[in-house]
Amino acid sequence: YEKIDEADVGKDELAEIGRTFNGMMEALETNYRKQEQFVSNASHELKTPLTVIESYAKLLLRRGFTNEKVATEALEAIVNESSRMNELIVQMLELAKNKERTSLSIHKVNLAQLLDDTLSQMQQAYNRSFELKGETQLYTYTDEQKLKQLLFILLDNARKYSDDKIIVTATKLGESISITIQDFGEGIPKDQISHLFDRFYRVNKDRNRKTGGTGLGLAIAKELAERLKIKINVASEIGVGSSFTLLVPIQKDLSEEDNQ
Ligand code: ADP
Repeated sequence: YEKIDEADVGKDELAEIGRTFNGMMEALETNYRKQEQFVSNASHELKTPLTVIESYAKLLLRRGFTNEKVATEALEAIVNESSRMNELIVQMLELAKNKERTSLSIHKVNLAQLLDDTLSQMQQAYNRSFELKGETQLYTYTDEQKLKQLLFILLDNARKYSDDKIIVTATKLGESISITIQDFGEGIPKDQISHLFDRFYRVNKDRNRKTGGTGLGLAIAKELAERLKIKINVASEIGVGSSFTLLVPIQKDLSEEDNQ
């Protein structure tokens, strides 16, 4: 770098450079702290199932050969915790992949058609009722794969945290297409809504252990939404249900801007 000669730079400019520099350093520090927090959370989340696996494997060694009931219990726990670890690792890699800014693949997409296909798949896989309402011709340019991944995360949550039908409504709303995924499940406490998209955040850890959540789904959803310039709004009431609304911008072609 060329050294800046103070005489050439006015006091105001120096102060401005100082402020910019401080701002950059603060942003770097915040980023670093977030990264540290992530590593520490990730280690903790991976360590928990590993500890369970280790203790059941030891139990299996001690008593499994003489007691079939103990052996079955231990093996079941080992299988469950291993798949939990597997899911955690897959999702962590997913977060890392999104961070790498892999290029987008932008094409014209009929959102209503995409929703119809995705809902049919979900219905088939989970034997639950997913109802599609709204318009049938809704086009925009976007990365279909990434949008589908985002929809899948929200639909999967709606399924996991409710027992009733799930209603999906897609309509044009100004310069956007609005997609609302509504469930009639347990709902989310108001003061926790702002944390939902934090990594590893779960409203109720005990409850969600049973459903096998990692707390990474919505963090991935947030990053996907940012890349696709989609806004996510959440409305929820305890005991009534939740709705997650995506505002997908109607745009001609993102490719020149973001598909380098
Ligand atoms: P998880 O893998 O635990 O589902 P997410 O990041 O997808 O993680 O969601 C974070 C938390 O937000 C969940 O653990 C759950 O407590 C809450 N949550 C998300 N979607 C819903 C929903 N539709 N209804 C109720 N709670 C939800």
